[in-house]
Amino acid sequence: MALVNEHFLKLPNSYLFSDIAKKINTFKVTHPKDKVISLGIGDVTQPLPKAVIEAMHSAVDEMAVKDTFRGYGPEQGYSFLIDTIIKNDFTSKGIYLEPSEVFINDGAKSDTGNIGDILRHDNSIGVTDPIYPVYIDSNVMCGRAGTLEDGKWSNVTYIPCRSENNFIPELPEHRIDILYLCYPNNPTGTALSKQELKKWVNYALSNDTLILFDAAYEAYIQNSDIPHSIYEIKGAKKCAIEFRSFSKTAGFTGVRCGYTIVPKEVTAATLTGERIPLNRLWNRRQCTKFNGTSYITQRAAEAVYSPEGQAQVKEIIRYYMTNAHIMKTGLSEAGLEVYGGENAPYLWVKTPDGLSSWKFFERMLYEANVVATPGVGFGPSGEGYVRLTAFGDRDDCLEAIFRIKKWLR
Ligand SMILES: *Cc1c(COP(=O)(O)O)cnc(C)c1O
Repeated sequence: MALVNEHFLKLPNSYLFSDIAKKINTFKVTHPKDKVISLGIGDVTQPLPKAVIEAMHSAVDEMAVKDTFRGYGPEQGYSFLIDTIIKNDFTSKGIYLEPSEVFINDGAKSDTGNIGDILRHDNSIGVTDPIYPVYIDSNVMCGRAGTLEDGKWSNVTYIPCRSENNFIPELPEHRIDILYLCYPNNPTGTALSKQELKKWVNYALSNDTLILFDAAYEAYIQNSDIPHSIYEIKGAKKCAIEFRSFSKTAGFTGVRCGYTIVPKEVTAATLTGERIPLNRLWNRRQCTKFNGTSYITQRAAEAVYSPEGQAQVKEIIRYYMTNAHIMKTGLSEAGLEVYGGENAPYLWVKTPDGLSSWKFFERMLYEANVVATPGVGFGPSGEGYVRLTAFGDRDDCLEAIFRIKKWLR
């Protein structure tokens, strides 16, 4: 008899976005004439940059010729891409990395979810709250999160980020083994200054905490005092693993490519106190379980760093950030309290009159025909907020804001 991993059974049945999809469907069936605008799901809408498309086409052509055909590639990624990443994303910021510290992957979700493979099941976990659900759910699946009690997992420390503390997480009073940080943040759209992030690196160094830093939105940073990489902070190479993605940077949500930095200096302990470099374990894990990212995809990612690629990517990001600005201005004029949207493509909107996230979501759907994401879906501290994304079409953004203004007038 095969036994299931019963930790999976602890996960609440339905996923946030399928609940939302069901409610939208019900609305559409009962209101067939109304056009719904979705500012809910965090997927990009602009097509891939031209430089990326050209690189993919020529990589396909290479695959058609015996002399340039490529079969299995290195699980860690091709050095042409690793070297380009190090030079453009790190050396340029004064961060020194070795090629073997960079692992190319098929996106940040996989690695933020899988990194737990190399860590014991009984580590304590900390997350800022609200948070990207993958961090917690992947810990639930291996039993590390404990049990669900009143909407919180028993082995997870929730560090609240709400308007009351200006979305700046406070250091916990006890120590945590593994801490997830995502900055700029999904869902709140807020960022941490270098000074604030430094507090966390220092906390990690003095408490022997491993930081898992998700920088999927670093390309959206506009202010110069906000770090793009945690390694901009002194000492972070001893305590942090960083996840990056081409998904939001260059429209790769359908192409799939990202990378993870596991510095040689980051270690974790055995029960007897021996320190083991996590780079070695992650490399072993990837060589066994990860198939590598396709050659064509890695050539596509490399093209993001060409001068043309950089210019095109900047243009797309400007487009989304202009959306964010339009939305933030419009929603504020409508009398709503709006956060984020300045260094990230998300707006975090406080529900008026103390409405719950789901209630406000439903009213916005039924009365303005605009879809948001209920903040409580991202964690207990998300209650009383909804998330709007700036990834939509400009016309949809304008129309959505027009409708919300009219609705709240
Ligand atoms: C979108 C997103 C990612 C990127 O996921 P991919 O697998 O690279 O597409 C990672 N982290 C957060 C917080 C995100 O919102």
